[in-house]
Amino acid sequence: MRETPNWATPTAHILRNRPDTAQLYFSPAALQGMARRFQDGFDGLVTYAVKANPGEEVLANLVAAGIRAFDVASPREMLAVRAVCGDAALHYNNPVRSPEEIAVARRLGVASCSVDCPRELDKLEALPKTTEISVRLALPVAGAAYDFGEKFGLDPERAAALLRKVAARGFVPAITFHPGTQCADPAAWGAYIAAAAKVARAADVQIARLNVGGGFASHRSGAAPDLEAIFAHIRAETERCFGAQAPKLVCEPGRAMVADALTLATRVKALRDGGAVFLNDGIYGGLMEMRDIGVPGRLRVIDPQGRARTADPVSRVIFGPTCDSLDRLPAPVPLPGDIAEGDYVLFDSMGAYSRSLTTQFNGYGLEDMVTVADLV
Ligand SMILES: *Cc1c(COP(=O)(O)O)cnc(C)c1O
Repeated sequence: MRETPNWATPTAHILRNRPDTAQLYFSPAALQGMARRFQDGFDGLVTYAVKANPGEEVLANLVAAGIRAFDVASPREMLAVRAVCGDAALHYNNPVRSPEEIAVARRLGVASCSVDCPRELDKLEALPKTTEISVRLALPVAGAAYDFGEKFGLDPERAAALLRKVAARGFVPAITFHPGTQCADPAAWGAYIAAAAKVARAADVQIARLNVGGGFASHRSGAAPDLEAIFAHIRAETERCFGAQAPKLVCEPGRAMVADALTLATRVKALRDGGAVFLNDGIYGGLMEMRDIGVPGRLRVIDPQGRARTADPVSRVIFGPTCDSLDRLPAPVPLPGDIAEGDYVLFDSMGAYSRSLTTQFNGYGLEDMVTVADLV
């Protein structure tokens, strides 16, 4: 592990520094613990979806915890991974690629690529035949915060036709799906695994691997649900549906891997008579995703001396710091009634899709992470 924690907890850092800009606190121990939980429990290859948080400290700590394969979408993500782990396996799972991007992928020796259209398969012709090509399957699903199937993936019939082409071209055939971000319902994986087995049978292709995507997180909390129950269901359904032809499994959690490893601390800039709260971070910064998936439940408020505010909650409109009236959380948030200017509002489980989405609009936005031993 490259980083050693500088601070015991976010509160210790806040008490000493009274930060006036929003801060992300990162616990390498929490991240490595989650990486181990996935590797111990999941019966296959655990990869990390880089887009959730591409921070160098995050990638380096995942490598330290034994992660050697990464789901990447772009040349820049590939290079970020290789910078911390020269021999990491790159799974290039953005199914739409320019020829220039494919040339970079070829030069870097990507191990696996997903496709969801014959034309995109044609574009991969120059890759070595040892490359795994996985066909992206999409089913109409419930249970996720938003449906990835709307943008990518093929229905089972067209997936079977494309899988047949992949095998005929001599690539290593595989199937991939993503049950949807924040998916926590084991049945969503079960439905996909059953469909994938049917696709392989219809194509008469024995797939080398089945990639069961990301998800693994609960709606709005960002925290991991009963991972072991999902892992057990995935294993059982794969055995049941594929029988003797069971493929090796791959998963690619983004949010569930990194969310719980970071806490976002914001500060109350102003408290208006009408009850509105102005924070020093908003939807152009670390709270960007809340506009689309709602406000998470896990937050706490401390005063500048580090004491928890505990008065009965009052629902308040929360504005961000920029001069844009859209910079407002989508719904009122219950906050302790004794909240005051200068207090800190700590949002837990903010490791995913926070720093990677932040802008510097109006001179705000997140900066470097502060490393802590513990997030409590
Ligand atoms: C974004 C993404 C993931 C990670 O999704 P989470 O919901 O963050 O786990 C995994 N695989 C692919 C192909 C993705 O695009």
